[in-house]
Amino acid sequence: MQRLFGVLCLLAALSLSLSQREPGAKWVESPNSGSRNGKTPKWLIIHGTAGGASAENIAAGFKDPKAQVSAHYVVGRDGTVVQTVDEKNAAWANGRIEAGADSWWTSAVNPNHVTISIEIVKPKTDNSDTMSDAQKNAVFKLAKNIISRNPGILKGWANASGGITGHYSISPQSRKNCPGPFPFEELFASLK
Ligand SMILES: [Zn+2]
Repeated sequence: MQRLFGVLCLLAALSLSLSQREPGAKWVESPNSGSRNGKTPKWLIIHGTAGGASAENIAAGFKDPKAQVSAHYVVGRDGTVVQTVDEKNAAWANGRIEAGADSWWTSAVNPNHVTISIEIVKPKTDNSDTMSDAQKNAVFKLAKNIISRNPGILKGWANASGGITGHYSISPQSRKNCPGPFPFEELFASLK
């Protein structure tokens, strides 16, 4: 019995160390996720929700298996951070590589397998909102923590080796306004 307990403790510790979650984020698990297929994250992708009132509200939508979509994180206007997919798994946020995508996105690798996605709650359906101060502070802190857990993500503009960019980099036809206005340069400066 004691030995079994020891093994169980070891397994629990192992699964904790393998899971990758943001401290303080609300955990609202989405079923719309899967294995990374042995890949590690190299790109952080910023999205805008193009509608919706709160992070909890958007995360509730990601719980619907019929929706077939998710993101690792949703950050509300009030700075609330909700996590719906563990970083060790692939979220379903970046499915489609469209004509005009940056050159490193090819059909050889599913973008979801190599990315971590943050959805920024933007109530306007054209994503024209800028972030609130609370939201910006939360996103910048979250990005810093994501990169410390996933050092393969480079701290600057995305290129073929990794980095940070918007959804438009992958889907420039259907998602050219995702995330809409976002202070990328300011984020990069904050990560230095
Ligand atoms: Zn998007």
